[in-house]
Amino acid sequence: NTNIPTHAAPRTTADWQAADAAHFLHPFTDFQALARKGSRIITRAHDVYLWDSEGHQLFDAMSGLWCVNVGYGQEALVDAATQQMRQLPFYNSFFQTTTPPAVELAELLAQISPPGFQHVFFANSGSEGNDTVVRMVRRYWDLQGQPERQVIIGRWNGYHGSTMAGASLGGMKYMHAQGGLPIPGIDHIDQPYWIEHGRGMDREAFGLKAARWLEDKILEIGADKVAAFIGEPVQGAGGVIVPPASYWPEIQRICDRYGILLVSDEVITGFGRTGNWFGCQTMGTRPDLITFAKGVTSGYVPLGGVLVGERVAKALIEQGGEFEHGYTYSGHPVACAVALANIRLIRQLGLVEHVREDVGPYLAQQFEALRAHPLIGDTQTCGLMGAMLLCKDKAGPDGAPVAFDASLEVGMLCRGHCFANGLVMRAVGDRMIIAPPLVITRAQIDELMGLIRRCLDLTLADLRQRGAL
Ligand code: PMP
Repeated sequence: NTNIPTHAAPRTTADWQAADAAHFLHPFTDFQALARKGSRIITRAHDVYLWDSEGHQLFDAMSGLWCVNVGYGQEALVDAATQQMRQLPFYNSFFQTTTPPAVELAELLAQISPPGFQHVFFANSGSEGNDTVVRMVRRYWDLQGQPERQVIIGRWNGYHGSTMAGASLGGMKYMHAQGGLPIPGIDHIDQPYWIEHGRGMDREAFGLKAARWLEDKILEIGADKVAAFIGEPVQGAGGVIVPPASYWPEIQRICDRYGILLVSDEVITGFGRTGNWFGCQTMGTRPDLITFAKGVTSGYVPLGGVLVGERVAKALIEQGGEFEHGYTYSGHPVACAVALANIRLIRQLGLVEHVREDVGPYLAQQFEALRAHPLIGDTQTCGLMGAMLLCKDKAGPDGAPVAFDASLEVGMLCRGHCFANGLVMRAVGDRMIIAPPLVITRAQIDELMGLIRRCLDLTLADLRQRGAL
């Protein structure tokens, strides 16, 4: 295009917005609605803060998209990428070749993973990691001489990515509605969300009941046809839904009883988020496969994959022959070099312990205190993931919170106040959720809570003005 000026003046926010609307189709976006409103242009970041093209500072309580675990501006990651790009920007691992960063990362992942995980398959994202899971799970059962074991069970309102397999494993019905999903051989059970399915019940009793939906489903399909169960230790995109403590041990018991593989999707919960290296350690499960992405590089460059436990690795290695799957960038040297620097930094800064012993419990206390706010009907945290439920009435006749009329879109209303007041907090229905960088300090949690309270007060005033309360 000969019209592109070579010495252009810096673009204004309006220029960026116009070009964005003209050419960039954003993920999970109503393109036309966004074009009318105009995107917010994020131009730089440091620690837990972002800045936009107008110079406004934002507290990033979502770690980008659940990924910037070490916070922004970590020079060790920048240096690792730069050095690796100079040394060897790319080589593949298809042709009986490998690269030092990929080998070292595989070795380091085996060290920090739960016992029994000695192997890794690299991909570029969580979605691709879960596509790999589907291929591996089905291959495993082929090799066991049980090819009829095809069905993978996920959960409604679970999230496992946006590729055909990822979206199918997930239980977002609005995603299934576009593109003829789920793909064959995938089934779902209800989520362990007490507010939705357990009202009036003891929470732990509900946890057992929700886990037993898996057993019911296995028996309905036929145990000899079920290959695996997949779940996020804590549902992230579904609204930071922390299951009752009774849930995961019962899921483990059921998987063991029927011999089916357990897949822990740790794309969000991996790399310290819950106060352990992996969420399965927090929940007390022994998965066969672990999907990871995001926090492995703190989002500085894309990388994902699957940690492969002993049972599956043994079959694939000893009996499998060629595994017909992989990506150009499986084990990308630059991504692996950044992941190495990132994991070393997590260790050096003691971030897993920082979450488990210090800021995680502190956030839990602060969220507990939020329940006194007139708008908040429930709060949950797990490590540095937190959710608060906006509700009309703290307790209805069954003792559980009463929701606002959905047409009010109260979550979006609250999110608007947050965005306008220097806080990135996400809304999932009426659940307001956070997952700040793991480097967050107590003082920054205090600052964050101040912002949250201010935005809740503004939302409350807004709802009163609209006559919704
Ligand atoms: N699994 C989980 C649990 C996730 O939260 C996500 C993304 N939020 C994915 C998979 C998909 O990852 P990606 O967007 O990197 O494909």
